[in-house]
Amino acid sequence: RKKIAIMTSGGDSPGMNGVVRACVRMAIHMGCDAYCVYEGYEGLVRGGDLIRKMEWYDVRGWLSEGGTLIGTARCMAFYERPGRLTAAKNLILNGIDALIICGGDGSLTGADRFRQEWPSLLDELVATGELQAEQTHAYRHLNIVGLVGSIDNDLSGTDATIGCYSALSRICYAVDLIEATASSHSRAFVVEVMGRHCGWLALMAGVATGADFIFIPEKPSEANWREEMCNIVHQHRALGKRKTIVIIAEGALDRQGSKITPTMVKDLLADKDGLGLDTRITTLGHVQRGGTAVAYDRMLATLQGVEAVKAVLEATPETKTCFIAITENKIIRKPLMEAVIDTKRVSKAIDQQDFDLAMSLRDHEFAE
Ligand code: ADP
Repeated sequence: RKKIAIMTSGGDSPGMNGVVRACVRMAIHMGCDAYCVYEGYEGLVRGGDLIRKMEWYDVRGWLSEGGTLIGTARCMAFYERPGRLTAAKNLILNGIDALIICGGDGSLTGADRFRQEWPSLLDELVATGELQAEQTHAYRHLNIVGLVGSIDNDLSGTDATIGCYSALSRICYAVDLIEATASSHSRAFVVEVMGRHCGWLALMAGVATGADFIFIPEKPSEANWREEMCNIVHQHRALGKRKTIVIIAEGALDRQGSKITPTMVKDLLADKDGLGLDTRITTLGHVQRGGTAVAYDRMLATLQGVEAVKAVLEATPETKTCFIAITENKIIRKPLMEAVIDTKRVSKAIDQQDFDLAMSLRDHEFAE
């Protein structure tokens, strides 16, 4: 019987439990044994009871659970070859040669590297006497398939990463709550959302809540951003708006590459010589990651988990390491490293049109 292991790695995201459930059950459905590697790559390196066989009922009820019940971790050891050697040994000792990894681009890059190195890792384990040659014969190829779990929606080549719509929903809900108090007191709120390199969450939250102004890393603000923002907020206030919402991504930058911080924005809105607004900062922080996955992420987790098991069973030594994407509503396999390289080269989440659209529906754009 083929043995397939599933793990979650890197930052947690809502929907990861749905992935594990789908992979475990699909593996069993396909006549395979299913294993979970607990604590991400840490579990692969440490082995022992961090690699556990899973049965159908072990994942019952997991669809509606937030976070990842099998744990996730950053693992320094896996960046180094000795760590990956131990990981390879642990997989072989458990009889596993197919791995499904749900994580961000870091985790998936690590996975591709592991697969590339696999034959040489086995040779080294045999040469150093860690394993007998006969133990490795049945495991000459390691099949790996990636699933993208990330709240940032920061991987190229797929429309949505597992977890991003849950995080976006949570942000919108939080902004709605803030808006009530903002209107009551005629206050301004600077809301910081996650996204160090990718402003998808900030931009889409701005679209979905009708924010007054947005700062994202992909569209560095012009040198005159201060005047521009104050001017727009001033116009909105003059048109009778009693609340001001500015959404800022963690990684917001200006054209010179300097960071724009929530405090800078707050000081500007509160400046007595300017707008003089009663302004508060709300950092949403880990609230955005938490909680149960929205329906879309559960669906994505389940359909992509099923496809990942099929892909890992059909993989041959010749096929490139793939990940499961959703493109135009279709669940498809794509070469992993091309997407990772594309992500570093171009910003997927934002094109100019999105930004302009988000901004063109604001009050001051309306001319009677
Ligand atoms: P994410 O998967 O969310 O992008 P990280 O970049 O922190 O998060 O990666 C998670 C883990 O994946 C790391 O702690 C490390 O164990 C492994 N990893 C990441 N990049 C590599 C790499 N280039 N080589 C080997 N392992 C890696």
